[in-house]
Amino acid sequence: GALHIHTIDKHPQTDISDYSGIMVFAEYRHGKIAPVSYELLGIGRKLADKRCVQLIVILPGGKVTEYTDSLIAAGADTVLLAEHPFLEQFREDVYANILETVIRQYKPEVVLAGATAIGRSVIPYVATAVDAGLTADCTRLEIREEDGTLLQTRPAFGGNIMATIECPQTRPQMATVRPNVMAPAQPDPSRSGEVVHLPLTEELLQSQVEVVETVSSADDQVNIQEAEILVAGGRGLESAKGFTLLRELAVELGGSVAASRAAVDSGWIPYAHQVGQTGKTVSPKLYIACGISGAVQHAVGMQSAEIVVAINRDKNAPVFDIATYGVVGDLFEVIPELIKRLQEV
Ligand code: FAD
Repeated sequence: GALHIHTIDKHPQTDISDYSGIMVFAEYRHGKIAPVSYELLGIGRKLADKRCVQLIVILPGGKVTEYTDSLIAAGADTVLLAEHPFLEQFREDVYANILETVIRQYKPEVVLAGATAIGRSVIPYVATAVDAGLTADCTRLEIREEDGTLLQTRPAFGGNIMATIECPQTRPQMATVRPNVMAPAQPDPSRSGEVVHLPLTEELLQSQVEVVETVSSADDQVNIQEAEILVAGGRGLESAKGFTLLRELAVELGGSVAASRAAVDSGWIPYAHQVGQTGKTVSPKLYIACGISGAVQHAVGMQSAEIVVAINRDKNAPVFDIATYGVVGDLFEVIPELIKRLQEV
């Protein structure tokens, strides 16, 4: 199903035509630009071309000048660098202040951020500060050429329908975009662009947040969104021990382990592994779903995988509707057999 939501602003801005350009908030962590930022540049470039406007990227961080070329190659016309040792550590109040400042100065018609831990925490502050609407977790974006209205599509009502939301009367139109949904920009090293070092006043760098210690949890090491091969387990695995078996298969294939919410809620595997509407969106080359029924809330997180293999003992399980290859059978027989065969090759 589909639903179209047209928001009405009770206090419409008098002149939205002051706003022009597409702005992308690029994220920098652990010494690299987050992959989602290149996905935002891919879609941002398309929107900018359609409207014949600039694509502006704002990148806050401790030492970020070295990434300028790659952002320009990925489609940026202007790169705004907010570079300061204090910004090496993410603090949502400081990042929000910086984004608010550049939005007020550059007046973009659209602002995009990744629906990541950082994007999700900072963007609502910014939207409130600049009095704009915000659509979280978009999976599709289009822009109307004539009036610049952004059509923001996201799953709604438990993933049962896709809702398209538009805020035609306010600017900027702000959206967070799920990682791994949009195609990353194809780099073109011959592109050129402008680089602006933002002046960072002391006031802008004021924070209520004091970082006492940074502890990386074991979960941080799990990056199922970047794995090319995922072996996912659901309730059918029956216990944490079932995941030991799954891990053996993942090792044989050189992949990582993912899970359904049922498995995470049962405490068999940490949340960082969860795929789906309230977990992560993944698009690996190969996704092997073991003992997963294929509920829509799970499917929205993995249906863009290139090849889906389903192992399920119920031949009527909905997972077979999205599977490229299906094995109807008991996973406790099929998986050990698979491992054995893989060890033979
Ligand atoms: P089940 O649906 O119980 O399926 C288990 C499957 O295993 C069955 O098909 C069964 O035939 C098979 N099986 C059992 N034993 C064996 C065996 N020995 N060999 C082979 N097959 C076997 N779910 C997510 O996954 N991710 C989300 O992000 C998510 N978000 C949600 C958000 C909302 C708002 C709601 C309402 C639900 C959400 N869910 C999510 C839950 C979702 O609706 C399902 O309940 C969940 O995906 C089911 O997990 P499962 O497939 O592991 O379990």
